[in-house]
Amino acid sequence: MAYRGRFAPSPTGLLHAGSLVAALASWLDARAHRGAWLVRIEDIDTPRCVPGAGEGILGQLAACGMRPDEPPWWQSTRGAAYAAALRQLRAGGHAYDCACTRKDIELYWLARGVPHEAEAERIYPGTCRPGPGGGLHGRPSRAVRFRAAGVVQWTDRRLGAMQQDVAAAVGDFVLHRADGLWAYQLAVVVDDAAQGITDVVRGEDLADNTARQILLQRALGLPTPRYLHTPLVLAADGRKLSKQNAAMPLHLVTEAAVLSALRAAGRVLGLPALAAQGAADWLAQAVHAWGEHHACLPRCDDASGERAR
Ligand code: GLU
Repeated sequence: MAYRGRFAPSPTGLLHAGSLVAALASWLDARAHRGAWLVRIEDIDTPRCVPGAGEGILGQLAACGMRPDEPPWWQSTRGAAYAAALRQLRAGGHAYDCACTRKDIELYWLARGVPHEAEAERIYPGTCRPGPGGGLHGRPSRAVRFRAAGVVQWTDRRLGAMQQDVAAAVGDFVLHRADGLWAYQLAVVVDDAAQGITDVVRGEDLADNTARQILLQRALGLPTPRYLHTPLVLAADGRKLSKQNAAMPLHLVTEAAVLSALRAAGRVLGLPALAAQGAADWLAQAVHAWGEHHACLPRCDDASGERAR
């Protein structure tokens, strides 16, 4: 199948040094495979979206010489497709209404002596899961959850053999949120399939979502793309560089600034130093280096790039 890749930023701010790595890796991988490269603006978590950031990101990508091969998709226009997928999941018995609040889930675990780890999402205990003894009656439902079951195994092109028991690690996860917004897991799976994406290349911080997405693909009868999770840029405190720890937006106004940002992203991806004349020349050399010499990121025709099981 012809390669189709994508970069799928959430417009919660402009690109910074960390998000440029994911953008560059997805672009290089698509170009090295002579495939199509698409951009999808994931603007569904509207309270977190920054007005103008989607257009700003497209401008930053263009300044770097990375232009999508098809018009960008905006997830805010895709509600009907997510609703159709949710209907399909309900009809197949994969989704159920949940009346639990965050506090209910917290109290459930505290009552069982399980303390809350900082930043960790509580595992959903299945309180509203239909079945004997299940279901909270007499309260309005708030969210829709996916019934997670089974251990998912897949092969990441960089991280190798991966597996997750989704029910044990995350529990039944949210598809449609209590505040009426679509959840990332559902939207990303529906759109990757609708856009015919064969290869997902994104930051390693998202690797943990892959098993949930594969479960959803299977429940919806959709193909599973290959996955490649790229190294993260760490902040001075050793944590992932993000808007939360004040990653600076990239100001790509001069050729020198573009080249230096690309070089920095290339170093994170393990590319060799390239004696390039300008950004376009650097990109052309980087495509070659990625395709021919990138030992730790095998090409998809290598055994380690086999399709996820
Ligand atoms: N929109 C997600 C983010 O910016 C990435 C989605 C993906 O690549 O699967 O974190």
